[in-house]
Amino acid sequence: MQKVLVVGAGFMGSGIAQVSAQAGYRVHLMDIQGSITDRALKEIRWSVEKLAAKGILKEPSQKVLARISPERDLSSASEVDWVIEAAPEAEGLKRGIFQELDRISRPETPLATNTSSIPITRLAENTRRPERVLGLHFFGPVPLMGLVEVVKGEKTSPEIFERGVAFVESLGKTPVRVQRDLPGFVMNRIFSAALREAVDLVAQGIATPEDVDVGMRLGYGWNVGPFEIADNAGLDTCARIGQTMRALGVGHLAPSSNLIDRMVAEGRLGRKAGKGFYRYSPEGKRLPWENKKNK
Ligand code: NAD
Repeated sequence: MQKVLVVGAGFMGSGIAQVSAQAGYRVHLMDIQGSITDRALKEIRWSVEKLAAKGILKEPSQKVLARISPERDLSSASEVDWVIEAAPEAEGLKRGIFQELDRISRPETPLATNTSSIPITRLAENTRRPERVLGLHFFGPVPLMGLVEVVKGEKTSPEIFERGVAFVESLGKTPVRVQRDLPGFVMNRIFSAALREAVDLVAQGIATPEDVDVGMRLGYGWNVGPFEIADNAGLDTCARIGQTMRALGVGHLAPSSNLIDRMVAEGRLGRKAGKGFYRYSPEGKRLPWENKKNK
């Protein structure tokens, strides 16, 4: 049985762990806080049991859950076939994790990052195996979203890139190949351009987040509006993506206004905090933000 280490058990890491276990991999799910892996395992159990109840799982939920073990450090990197890093979107933090992973894991193990915006080449710089570092950019919630961008860093070998594609397919997801390493890759460059405009229009009081979301759903056939996507992803993550875009010379893909940064400073982190562009009931129902000005 092939083994996967997922680093970071937050929104994305827990989803990646779940789909990997469902696909038959033995999964080590690591976070720096035990309370976070506990919460992740609880959420995975809930989700897997829901899938089992719907008849979507090929085996009893217990078998899937038994393949995931929580970890508090990176030592299991030495025994796995794949590592997927899903720690917060901060370059310094990720560089440190890659350096550590490079030290602990077998030299042949591919090291993947789920970064939303940081070029793979920059994270690979801290390793002795840049040809084995690649982007596997999952979309959230991972159990529900079918897409994974497979991103080639400047030094990623064609063999590892294709192994990344095959790994994504083994999870039942659809890979999109990104052949050149740009900040935000392909999908987040396009989404960031849309979100930039949406945020700047709302910051100027020209439309509310609810109206923009309704407009994009009804006018352009989006399944989910840009503010719903941002709230689900986490506004702290959106703020960090904007910072990366500005720092790497693609500031046109980040909002001009500082609305998201101000919301993050106020604890409006999106769905996970119960408040963002919308507010959320304890049951998770999305409700309009009362102060519709959002200024
Ligand atoms: P999150 O904040 O929910 O989870 C990050 C987790 O990493 C936290 O549980 C945190 O405790 C843990 N962590 C912090 N330092 C760590 C360390 N040194 N070692 C191990 N774990 C550590 O964030 P997220 O939304 O899951 O995002 C994770 C990554 O995935 C980011 O790079 C983000 O840009 C990317 N991403 C996010 C989304 C999204 O929709 N949120 C989509 C695609 C990609």
